[in-house]
Amino acid sequence: MAVGTAARRQHIVLIPFLAQGHIIPFLALARRIAQRHPGRFILTVVSTPLNVRGLRSSLHPDAGVLLRELPFRGADHGLPPGAESTDSVPQGLLFKVFQASASLRTEFEGLVAEDIPREDGCPPLCIIADVFMGWTVHVARQLGVFHATFTTCGGLGTAAYFAIWLHLPHLNAASEEDDFGVPGFPETFRLRRSQMSPTLKNAHERDPWVILLREQITFCCSSDAMLCNNAEALEPTGTALLQKNTGVPVFSIGPILPPETISSAGRAAKVLGIAPEACIEWLDAHPPRSVLYVSFGSQNSVSAQQMVQLAAGLEASGRSFIWVIRPPFGFDVKGQFRAEWLPEGFEERARSSGRGLLVRDWAPQLEILAHGSVGAFLSHCGWNSTLESLARGVPLIGWPMAAEQFYNVKMLEEEMGVCVELARGLVQEVEAAEVERVVGMVMGEEKGKEMRRRAVKAAEVIRAATREEGGEKGTSLAALDAFLEAVQQGTPATGNSAA
Ligand code: UDP
Repeated sequence: MAVGTAARRQHIVLIPFLAQGHIIPFLALARRIAQRHPGRFILTVVSTPLNVRGLRSSLHPDAGVLLRELPFRGADHGLPPGAESTDSVPQGLLFKVFQASASLRTEFEGLVAEDIPREDGCPPLCIIADVFMGWTVHVARQLGVFHATFTTCGGLGTAAYFAIWLHLPHLNAASEEDDFGVPGFPETFRLRRSQMSPTLKNAHERDPWVILLREQITFCCSSDAMLCNNAEALEPTGTALLQKNTGVPVFSIGPILPPETISSAGRAAKVLGIAPEACIEWLDAHPPRSVLYVSFGSQNSVSAQQMVQLAAGLEASGRSFIWVIRPPFGFDVKGQFRAEWLPEGFEERARSSGRGLLVRDWAPQLEILAHGSVGAFLSHCGWNSTLESLARGVPLIGWPMAAEQFYNVKMLEEEMGVCVELARGLVQEVEAAEVERVVGMVMGEEKGKEMRRRAVKAAEVIRAATREEGGEKGTSLAALDAFLEAVQQGTPATGNSAA
């Protein structure tokens, strides 16, 4: 356990993984610390030049957060120019982004050891690193710096993701239909192979993904603390499992969501496919809770077959929708969207009837979810999207694509009752009739009403955890303060129980 000293500058260095779904909550965490404790800490978010440029455009100079660049040599790892985050590469190159991010170690070490300390010559107080940047634990140990990981996923999702990559329990399942247990989880927690991404499904003991992820996960388990972007009361089982299985004190400090005063484009430095005002105006023309929002996060799309069926199902459902569209899987994600990927005349019918709005590549998601006309969110259930939806009391239709999204959907559906799963991944053949049925159910008055009630309850839990009133702190604020106190005092972190 690293300890601090009184002479040490109160400098906290944050390093997210190179993906929008990680960079966005890391910046939001830095802001939250700066806002809660103005002047007490120096907060520096470190990333590669293009990501820092994006962050800079979204950061107010008075935010109390500094940005530093690490030189990035993507070409050394076979990445094309300009590819510094997962949303800027095709799926086939994702592994190279992971490799390239691990190669930042020497530069990061130099920055933390020599560059950042200025006044008293001491290293920073603490490094807060992404789960996929577990290698930073060595830098922290070398310099005697407190090390914490920040998982931008939920407690259950992180615990399941860790356990599955560490133990590959699905290799024991005889067939697609057989369910299997997960080491470290209750026997009743069962999964199927269809809940694994293709990379994971085909993994074996000597697979490069397995070697890389096991290494990062093992590093995380030797960290001094783990910050989790959840509220303990939102998923108590998952949080407890994460702490038990990793042996690391877990602090539920979330949801850490970007402030709504910053537009969705600014948050991720993306070009919006529609102006937020135009989107709001479109939503204003629709009755309360009548619109389905459809989006698969910052980097995913569906297959060509699925896209046609999803479109036909949305049309058949008779519900209004906003759909964030990207070229189908297998085509250039950054390329122009072609009309041939949708049923003939689909966009024109959607536009002329006023029933559907198609947004190219990137939508103002926070603004959309905050609008009272949105009744449900068809989502891949990435953790940020999940939190953003629940914080607004919006129930979900789940279509997990990768990573821990499958386990998020399982928890949201089975434990929380705020989600219905529609499909899994890119290979499942999706039928328009099934889309129509599920959309009708979730937007409807029977099951849909109960799901909305539960989603509104989740929103209340989130509000309570992140509220401070009359000196009473919500659990997530108390956990963040307890974590910072432990870091500053150099005392061992104890996790949620101490908050
Ligand atoms: N996002 C957005 N507009 C879009 C798509 C995504 O603002 O059109 C944001 C979304 O609000 C969320 C993040 O990108 O904060 C996606 O993170 P998530 O964890 O849901 O999924 P990932 O992209 O990591 O798979």
